[in-house]
Amino acid sequence: MKSLSFSLDNSFQIELPADPSTANIPRQVTAACYSTVLPLVPSSPTLLSFSPEAGALLGISEEDAQSDAFTTFVSGKEVYPGTKPYAMNYGGHQFGSWAGQLGDGRAINLFELLHQGQRWMIQLKGAGPTPYSRRGDGLAVLRSSIREFLCSEAMHHLGVPTTRALSLVQTGDQVLRDLLYNGNAAYEPGAIVCRVAPTFLRFGNYQLFAARGEQAVLQQLVDYTIRHFFPSLGPPSKETYARFFQEVSERTLELVLQWQRVGFVHGVMNTDNMSILGLTIDYGPYGWLDNYDPDWTPNTTDLPNKRYRFGHQAQVAQWNLLQLANALYPLVEQEEPFIEALNHFSKSYEHRYLEMMGHKLGFAAPQPGDEALVKALEILLCSTETDMTLFFRLLSRVHPGKEKGIQELLPAFYHPEELVGGLLERWERWIEHYQQRTVQEGSTPEERVARMHRVNPKYVLRNYMAQLAIEAAERGEHALLHELQALLKAPYEEQPSMEKWFDKRPDWARTKPGCSALSCSS
Ligand code: AMP
Ligand code: MG
Repeated sequence: MKSLSFSLDNSFQIELPADPSTANIPRQVTAACYSTVLPLVPSSPTLLSFSPEAGALLGISEEDAQSDAFTTFVSGKEVYPGTKPYAMNYGGHQFGSWAGQLGDGRAINLFELLHQGQRWMIQLKGAGPTPYSRRGDGLAVLRSSIREFLCSEAMHHLGVPTTRALSLVQTGDQVLRDLLYNGNAAYEPGAIVCRVAPTFLRFGNYQLFAARGEQAVLQQLVDYTIRHFFPSLGPPSKETYARFFQEVSERTLELVLQWQRVGFVHGVMNTDNMSILGLTIDYGPYGWLDNYDPDWTPNTTDLPNKRYRFGHQAQVAQWNLLQLANALYPLVEQEEPFIEALNHFSKSYEHRYLEMMGHKLGFAAPQPGDEALVKALEILLCSTETDMTLFFRLLSRVHPGKEKGIQELLPAFYHPEELVGGLLERWERWIEHYQQRTVQEGSTPEERVARMHRVNPKYVLRNYMAQLAIEAAERGEHALLHELQALLKAPYEEQPSMEKWFDKRPDWARTKPGCSALSCSS
């Protein structure tokens, strides 16, 4: 059996203060960035899936992944020689309120490695309790682990910044969950995703030390972050800290723009789920828009206020950045740079959003009048249920001068029979304007189609697709899991044998839990 070998470089543990206690009981941990903790030993771990693309980042081949040593490693069964796994300490605002210390309640960092000059943190999600588990068990169920595994890799292939998923393991242990929070708890299969990112630091890591007045630790953590992940910002100084905030704002803006482009709703944009690197992190009750609806949130816990609805993600990101600004303020002691960056965020978002929508419409560069065209489209997309992914992909077939453009778009409408009278006229008028605008592009139809296909995915992980893969896996069948994993590696390509996934959400999935509504129970 081939053993795995890594070039370790545990910067986080070496350079930052540790919790002196090793007691694995829920508790407050002060003036420390992490607590040492061992993963649980699973009873009979089996590897359900491996991502060769994530493996390549770490120097792990498909052959390596077939070895028992690999499953042993990504299930937490054995600790890699010379490493001391640990959970990170962080706080956060949840649904707008300060929640105090949260921390890695069910994530355990195994170690950091360097591969081809790049730093990677290896983390197990669902490998048992930590001092931050509060009342939780530290475990994860198969359904939520499949959702995280498939979606993180799908996001990467879509070009959206994200944490990666190396592997999905079923532990062989049962986990008790109340799926709908209605008092009907039941056992479900347990699973572990091995996640990979340069760092899993979140806004909440910085917030915790600021909230507790632990300024020395805060500064140590910020210095560490800049040194390793933002080295171009320069040596520690007030100016560097202000630039750090600006850079995090920029990355967060870029992240939200990408989510809006592909129709992704994170679902729990609490500040503990906001990566300092601007990565999509913590795939919980996320969802994908089937019909375009800016007011949609997949998260049932968020239903009263829909704080994390699709159309509100940029505002929430800015609110989260404001909380990060408050945390970093003691290091800068000046408001202006923060206010400037936050104002820049809104202005820049408006501009960049329009530019992104223009790209989805096939426009190479913005022109006057585009804003009205985009706004009119947003209203029309909501006026009758219209599938976002299908609509933008099919729009590339509507060429200037071509009559009956609406015919090309019909498959995107959930109720095509509603397209009569005034609504049909409004659509036809919009298409006519769109065709006129397209003429001004001056590119060939082929160029335009190619441009549109690069930003409008053909295949996304619709909620019902993940649900089908979950139900099959719960019966012990993994073919669909692997089919979706393969499909989503090339989301912008035509895949003729996979055409069935280029379709609207089926009717049965409209109101089914897991497809239209997700709880935080995972
Ligand atoms: P989330 O909303 O999933 O990002 O989780 C918020 C907090 O709850 C984090 O501190 C998690 O580590 C913790 N948490 C979530 N699920 C569990 C669990 N099953 N056991 C322990 N802690 C958990
Ligand atoms: Mg979280």
